[in-house]
Amino acid sequence: MLQLGKSEKAFDEAKRYMPGGVNSPVRSYRSVGSNPPFISSASGSRIYDIDNNEYIDYVLSWGPMILGHANPEVVASLQEAIPRGTSYGAPTLLETELAKKIQAFMPSMEMVRLVNSGTEATMSALRVARGYTGRDRIVKFVGCYHGHSDSLLVKAGSGLATFGVPDSPGVPKGVAENTITLPYNDIDAVKQLFDEMGDTIACIIVEPVAGNMGCVPPVEGFLETLRDVTKAHGALLIFDEVMCGFRASSGGAQKLYNIKPDLTCLGKIVGGGMPLAVFGGSSKIMSEVAPSGPIYQAGTLSGNPVAVTAGLATLSMLQRDPTIFKQVEDSTKALCNGLEELAKKYNVPAVVQRVGSMFTLFFTDKPVHNFDDASACNADHFKTFFHHNLSHGIYYAPSPFESNFVSMCHKGAEIDKTLAVAEEAFKMISETL
Ligand SMILES: *Cc1c(COP(=O)(O)O)cnc(C)c1O
Repeated sequence: MLQLGKSEKAFDEAKRYMPGGVNSPVRSYRSVGSNPPFISSASGSRIYDIDNNEYIDYVLSWGPMILGHANPEVVASLQEAIPRGTSYGAPTLLETELAKKIQAFMPSMEMVRLVNSGTEATMSALRVARGYTGRDRIVKFVGCYHGHSDSLLVKAGSGLATFGVPDSPGVPKGVAENTITLPYNDIDAVKQLFDEMGDTIACIIVEPVAGNMGCVPPVEGFLETLRDVTKAHGALLIFDEVMCGFRASSGGAQKLYNIKPDLTCLGKIVGGGMPLAVFGGSSKIMSEVAPSGPIYQAGTLSGNPVAVTAGLATLSMLQRDPTIFKQVEDSTKALCNGLEELAKKYNVPAVVQRVGSMFTLFFTDKPVHNFDDASACNADHFKTFFHHNLSHGIYYAPSPFESNFVSMCHKGAEIDKTLAVAEEAFKMISETL
């Protein structure tokens, strides 16, 4: 069985110095009721903890590592870059090169600004939308996560169109009130809201493939409706593709579903495992950003040469060999099909949802279209499944409301081993039914 002695000790010590012992809440394993392994290294599809346990990793740093951990080409490019200095706070050739690559993958991003995290990208995109339209209200969907800035850390009460209440102490009521939340995939609710007050709304921000309530694809007509109502009312449509960019397809959800947003946020893969994120859109809108326009946004480490180097190396590989997207998607498909078959074989109610190379196994008997559906899934089954897998070397996200990811290094052998462990877990669950 899994030995985590050193990790347990490390966690106890970490808790004395950092809230919950971590620097981002989900890492603490609260939602699975145990303690996290402390990681010492990672390579390809595998991560290793300080007790020398090895895992096949389906978290992949919460998405970025599509080429696998410590990809040799990315590592080599960093080894070359670092001796040239790690930050200048001045323009470099690398930034333009990355901007061009991003545009090649997502033509709607004619102009971009590089930032340091997905949170910063979405927060800044909201400011641009408000500055550009001269309106304060924004619309988001329940269960979509866009980072932890004030305007976006808001949940609705019950009811369709609800004016937001803060989701966390420290978010001012006045800020939250400008955030309207709607259920994901609810086309009628969107139409009704825009009929009533569309001309006062600055933007809709949406995960065009939701990943932060587990993997939830948009229903047919949902993204089209968002595009139509925003256009009709002079509001902007922001696609938060921090997770689904380079995962839903090579050109993100906007390519897969053929919808052109006004602004796009990228993060995770675009930084190749370094702190880098992006927001961008048409030149017309982005020209309003300082210093060419009045909407202020800045950053000491923005466009950092080391981070940009990792992003460039990653996107270069993906551009040079676009079959990587298909390979990774095929592996994900094989894994998801296998999981579905096993669930059926053991009569465990389960639905596997996948878009591109992101997926979630939901313990429920019907498709998950929104946060309420996701919340109704069987939490005990998830815990049993999660713990059996972790203790047998399969590392899934430690929460039922997350997507899992596959990399280029997850090949047939990894998928087979993963399914063998999954079979044991489904069997255990079936014995409790
Ligand atoms: C991860 C994520 C963010 C936040 O990015 P950070 O880099 O963690 O700040 C925002 N939006 C989506 C869709 C994400 O998945």
